[in-house]
Amino acid sequence: MEIADKLALNKFSVDTIPHLKIDQEKCHPCPHKNCTLVCPVSNYTQEGDRVVLSWEGCLECGTCRIACDQGSLQWQYPRGGFGIAYRLG
Ligand code: SF4
Repeated sequence: MEIADKLALNKFSVDTIPHLKIDQEKCHPCPHKNCTLVCPVSNYTQEGDRVVLSWEGCLECGTCRIACDQGSLQWQYPRGGFGIAYRLG
């Protein structure tokens, strides 16, 4: 089974309140934008000189929390009842 097939078995209950937030003032001068490289589901994309975040498909793995060395990411788990439900794992 391919990774994409396994990911498709997960269920998401998406909150309207993002559990991840970027402080753009701190993010803007970052020279490497690690978050765009490490997220396994590509939740971070670079648009011009700005990083855009989509939290809806977040796996809650915490990789971006470690990779961001600019202190620009506010990371927390989704509120109770929201987020990912792993079906194989
Ligand atoms: Fe991507 Fe993991 Fe960060 Fe979610 S916690 S945005 S899946 S790197």
